[in-house]
Amino acid sequence: MNNKPLRFGRTLPRIIVIGAGITGLSAAHRLLELGVEHGFPLDVTVLEGKDRAGGVISTRESDGFIAEEGPDSFLRAKPEAIGLSKRVGLGPAIIGMNKEAERTFVLKGGRLVPFPSGLFPGPARIGELFGSPILSIGGKIRMSLEAFIPGNASLGDESAASFMRRRFGREVYERLAQPLLAGIYAGDPETLSVRTVLPHLVKMEEEYGSVTRGMRKNGASGGAPRVEKGDGGRFAAFDRGMETLVNTLHTRLPDGAVRLRSKVKRIDATRDGFRVYLGGDRPIDGDAVILALPAPEASLVTGSLDLELSLGLSRIKYVSNTVINLAYRRNEIAHPLDGSGFLAPLSERLPVLSCTFSSVKFRGRSSDDTALLRVVAGGAQNPGICGEDDGRLVEMAHGALSPILGIKSAPLFSRISRNPESTPHYAVGHGGIVAGIMERAGRFPSLRLAGNAYGGAGIPDCVRSGEEAALGIFRYLACREARDEGYKSRGRA
Ligand SMILES: Cc1cc2nc3c(=O)[nH]c(=O)nc-3n(C[C@H](O)[C@H](O)[C@H](O)COP(=O)(O)OP(=O)(O)OC[C@H]3O[C@@H](n4cnc5c(N)ncnc54)[C@H](O)[C@@H]3O)c2cc1C
Repeated sequence: MNNKPLRFGRTLPRIIVIGAGITGLSAAHRLLELGVEHGFPLDVTVLEGKDRAGGVISTRESDGFIAEEGPDSFLRAKPEAIGLSKRVGLGPAIIGMNKEAERTFVLKGGRLVPFPSGLFPGPARIGELFGSPILSIGGKIRMSLEAFIPGNASLGDESAASFMRRRFGREVYERLAQPLLAGIYAGDPETLSVRTVLPHLVKMEEEYGSVTRGMRKNGASGGAPRVEKGDGGRFAAFDRGMETLVNTLHTRLPDGAVRLRSKVKRIDATRDGFRVYLGGDRPIDGDAVILALPAPEASLVTGSLDLELSLGLSRIKYVSNTVINLAYRRNEIAHPLDGSGFLAPLSERLPVLSCTFSSVKFRGRSSDDTALLRVVAGGAQNPGICGEDDGRLVEMAHGALSPILGIKSAPLFSRISRNPESTPHYAVGHGGIVAGIMERAGRFPSLRLAGNAYGGAGIPDCVRSGEEAALGIFRYLACREARDEGYKSRGRA
C-alpha cells in the first residue's frame, strides 16, 4: 500500500472510534483500508478528548534533542507495529537499536551490572548468570534447582512475584524479575497476574513441570515472541521519534475524521446503533462504536449503556508515571554509557524505575557531544509522582542518576511529561475480569473494546487490538448490509 491519504466516498455506515491514541488511530485506519479493499466505503469519526492525537505517544524535538515523552520504541518480535508502519509508507523511517545498546544494566549496590540477556534465566542463561555478580552463590544454586521444584498446575492465577520466588528463589525475583516487570508495567509484581504478564513461563510449568525443562525443549523464549539480538536489536523506533507513527496515521485519515477536544461523556444504545454524548456539543449517532480508551475512562462512558460492563471495566486499575528527559554534555558523564540503560530494583531504594540512555539506544537523539537520558519514575509503588512539581522531578532524577553515572554538572536540558493513569496494572485474576467484560460487551454486536487494558500494553499489542476491533466491526456491517440488500431484493422480486 502507498502512503496517499485514504479516501472514502458516500457516508454509509458511520463508525465512531472513541480515543485517538495508537489503538483508536489503528482501528480507524484499518476500517478505512478495509472499506477501500472491499469497495464498501465507511464514515469513520474519531473522537478525541485532548487537543492532539496520539495519546501517550509524544515526541518533543527541540534544542537539538529528540526526546520521547511516552514510549521510546516497540518490540520488533511482534509484527503488528512494523506491518502497519510499512503499509503507511514508514518502512524507511524505521530504525533499529545501535550496536552499543545491545546490553542493559541492572543496579546492584549502587553500581551497574549487565542484565542477563533474554527474559529470564533458562539453561542457556544459567551459565551467563553464574559468571555474573547479580546473584549471590546461594541465589545461583537456588535458581539452578528450578528444574527440581514440582509444578503446581492446580494453582489458578497467582502473582508474578509469588511464581518467580516459588520457582527460582527470592534473589532471582528481587534482582531480575522485579525490576524488569516494574520497568515494563510500572507495576507491583506482588499483585501483577503471572498468567497475564508471564504467560509463557506458566505454560512451561504446566506442560513440562518446570520452566527450565520447558526452555530446554522450546528454546529460551519458550514460545514467547523471540527477542533477537543483532541486526537492529530487539526494539525499533522511527528516525524522528515515535510520534511519527501516530502523526502519519492521523494525516492519512480524511480531513475532519479526527475531532479533537471532543471528550465523550456517555454512550447510549439506540435502535440502530449508538448515540454518543459529548460535553456541550450535539450528540452523534453511529452504527457502531469502537471504544479505544483506557479502562477507567471506558468504564465512565459506558455507565448508562450497561452497568455491569462499566463495573467490569472499573476493576482494571491503571497506574501513573512520569518521564523525565535530561541531557548533559557527554564529557560531564564518567560512565561509558555502553548499554541501552538500566533498571532499578525496588531493593535499591532509588526513586526511579529505569533510565534509558536514549542517545546511545537510537541514533539522532542528540548531538555527538551530548547525552540524552530518559528516566521513568512512579508506577504502582510511587502513585503520587504526577503531583510533584517540575523542579522537584528534575532534582529527583538528576540526584538519582548522578552518583550512578558519575555526572559532574547540572543538566543542559530537561523535559517532563506526566502520564496519569496511563498504564494498566494487570492484577491477579485479570484474565477472568477481561473475559467477563468481553462477554458483557458481546451483547452489543456493533460495539468493540480495544486498547492496552485487555491483551497487552505494548504498541504492537495496541495496534493488533485496534485492527482486530476494526475487522470485527467491518464484518458486522458488511453482513448487515448484505442482509438488508437481500431483504430489499426479495421485496422487489
Ligand atoms: C511512559 C510510557 C512508556 C511506555 N513505553 C513503551 C515502549 O517503550 N514500548 C511500547 O511498546 N509501549 C510502551 N508503553 C505502552 C504504550 O505506549 C501504550 O500502552 C499505548 O500507547 C496505549 O495506546 P492507547 O491508544 O491504547 O491509549 P492512550 O495512548 O492512552 O490513548 C487513549 C486516548 O483516548 C483519549 N481519551 C480518554 N478519554 C476520552 C474520552 N472520554 N473521550 C475521548 N477521548 C478520550 C485520550 O486523550 C487518549 O488520547 C509506554 C507507556 C507509557 C505511559
